[in-house]
Amino acid sequence: MPDRQRVCIIGAGLTGLVAASALQSAGYDVVLIESTRSPGGMIASFPVGSERIEYIYHHIFTHDKLLVRLLDTLGLSDRLKWFKPSDALVADGTLHPFSSPLDLLRFPVIPFGQRLRTGLAVLRAARLKDWKKLEDETAAQWLIRNCGSDAYRRLWQPLLRAKFDNDADTVSAVWIWNKFKLRGHSRSHETGAEMLGYLDGSFGLMVDELVRRITARGSQILTGHTAMNISQVSDTPRRFAVSCILENCATVQVEANAVVATVSSRQFAGMTTSYDWPDTYLRQVNRLSYKGDLCLVLRLRRSLSPYYWTTICDSLPFVVVVEHTNLVGPRGYGGHIVYLSRYLDISDPVWTQSDGEIYRLFIQGLSRLYPHFSAADVIDWRLQRTRCAQPVIGRGYSRQMPAMDTPWSGVKLAGMAQIYPEDRGMNYAVRLGLDAARSVLREDQLRGAADPGLRCGFLQEEGP
Ligand SMILES: Cc1cc2nc3c(=O)[nH]c(=O)nc-3n(C[C@H](O)[C@H](O)[C@H](O)COP(=O)(O)OP(=O)(O)OC[C@H]3O[C@@H](n4cnc5c(N)ncnc54)[C@H](O)[C@@H]3O)c2cc1C
Repeated sequence: MPDRQRVCIIGAGLTGLVAASALQSAGYDVVLIESTRSPGGMIASFPVGSERIEYIYHHIFTHDKLLVRLLDTLGLSDRLKWFKPSDALVADGTLHPFSSPLDLLRFPVIPFGQRLRTGLAVLRAARLKDWKKLEDETAAQWLIRNCGSDAYRRLWQPLLRAKFDNDADTVSAVWIWNKFKLRGHSRSHETGAEMLGYLDGSFGLMVDELVRRITARGSQILTGHTAMNISQVSDTPRRFAVSCILENCATVQVEANAVVATVSSRQFAGMTTSYDWPDTYLRQVNRLSYKGDLCLVLRLRRSLSPYYWTTICDSLPFVVVVEHTNLVGPRGYGGHIVYLSRYLDISDPVWTQSDGEIYRLFIQGLSRLYPHFSAADVIDWRLQRTRCAQPVIGRGYSRQMPAMDTPWSGVKLAGMAQIYPEDRGMNYAVRLGLDAARSVLREDQLRGAADPGLRCGFLQEEGP
């Protein structure tokens, strides 16, 4: 019988936590390395009033089946609540309701004919099954052809810029197709109305429960450990050393028989310089680019609007206003929770401004948008910076995406940029974590380091 294998997972976000749970279910010893002080990654949360809230706004869709299954497995399905969102769009300094097809038909900013074409294009895209047909076209080309150039310039281009900043015009049509499909399909079975889900108590509860189960089964989660370098210290038995730097600048090494990196491809390239990568793989890893995100969460004395989600098509310092309490109600937050978010290139000078400067910039923008708002309405605030928040999905992405099974046997890359054709999201982080665990097991079975009968039973997925 082969020796018990140890896997080092870099990153204790949702992907890493799910990969750890799945590997444990197949009998692996797992050690998770996390650079921040607590697990959760982008779904990390903090206490506010008598509740907890994510640093970054989060909701789920009705078709996020894997995430729903995860919540069920963790005993949290009772806490998953569904809400009807109300959306708006700011264009030409005016707040327009934008929740329904009727709102689109009434949207005065684009000519009527192009409103009709836009509605039909969204419907057509949502029904399209073979996304590969869109792979070599940009979203801009597809939208101009199907919706018209005014609709593109006044509606879609600002939305693409909101997500991809200066790369908006290079984004693949697959990305926008996916948005139409996902949003259009997040509907209640009973009423057909659009519904979004939120976890009563925050998605932090899901993180807590995963952590509790992982540690209860004897695995370690080493927080405050930043992985700097992966090297192979032995071929037989296969062993890797992951060098980590701690907050006090001390270094430690974590040894394992396989490594799963759930980080950006950029970070992955930096920590694997000891390996002589084939040019093609290295090119794929290095070619990927990401947008950063600045997310300001405010607790306010009063709400700003009746809407949950307000997209900004005008020039303002942020691109979306998410009034969380307009979706889930006031609860015990002790105020209205509002997120202001902006995706940007991290070479943008705004990225390097201090938290206070960014706060003031966003607050000035908010005062322009909602004249009744005053800075005195702010009870408290926090700014979250996410360096690699959104991979830029360009044309022909399926041919450029680095494989999870890297050429370095035993080293897996399972970062957000490996989610495709869907856009990154919690549901797909769960899928990615499961895929990474299965990939480790499959490889170990092939090389005789794991029993052929073993399988990753977590979330009762089929097959190894
Ligand atoms: C603005 C924004 C809004 C979003 N809204 C939604 C939403 O509404 N619904 C939804 O489903 N999804 C949403 N998402 C996406 C969702 O949060 C992510 O898809 C998911 O959390 C990704 O999980 P992950 O584990 O892959 O990555 P991460 O959460 O980024 O986890 C990676 C972890 O690795 C750690 N790490 C990085 N480098 C190192 C290192 N060198 N050593 C050790 N540890 C390291 C990081 O600290 C982090 O904890 C949103 C994302 C953003 C940015």
